[in-house]
Amino acid sequence: MVLSGYYTNEKSYGMFIEPGTKRSKEKGTGWIEVISGSMFSGKTEELIRRLNRARIANLNVEIFKPGIDVRYDKEDIVSHNRNSIRSTPVNMAEEILLYSGNCDVVGIDEAQFFDEALVEVVNKLANNGKRVIIAGLDMDFNGRPFGPMPQLMAIAEYVTKVHAICVNCGNIAHFSFRKSASENQILLGEHDVYEARCRGCFREGYDSAGGV
Ligand code: ZN
Repeated sequence: MVLSGYYTNEKSYGMFIEPGTKRSKEKGTGWIEVISGSMFSGKTEELIRRLNRARIANLNVEIFKPGIDVRYDKEDIVSHNRNSIRSTPVNMAEEILLYSGNCDVVGIDEAQFFDEALVEVVNKLANNGKRVIIAGLDMDFNGRPFGPMPQLMAIAEYVTKVHAICVNCGNIAHFSFRKSASENQILLGEHDVYEARCRGCFREGYDSAGGV
């Protein structure tokens, strides 16, 4: 069987292709995309890739992130490879509705830090004809579903799981292992606090620490 280039490319790399770039504000023509994965899995890079493509298509793009995430810069989404896009920090999910009136595509980064109201907010946006692209951690440091992410993944038309590489063994990783002893669900940090681990190494880490 001969596979087309498009098909083989998508199967090999899982590259997301937009279902459409149509500019439309008609009710019911929007949709929701979720990009989820562990720390260092490239979620934000994938969000930026999609948003840049939407900009090339001359669509109005707005990007929001929770005000809590001030690791790098208050107004820019900055991913781990320093590839940045300007964004607006908001404290409540409802604020996204206020600020996104004129846009075609709404990007939301670090969605796991928002409250459950985000689910209704993104539904409203999509129902009003907007394309919504959400990036967030699917699990916390204990391997438990994080914030509104499970609900967002359920209502989205498209869900993409991106994976990191386990720093311990080199396998595909989808857990965020916390190196410090803090038990708070929210502990901002990067390589100083977290590392990507596969299922086996994630379990091993907690077994040796006497946890989970
Ligand atoms: Zn591993």
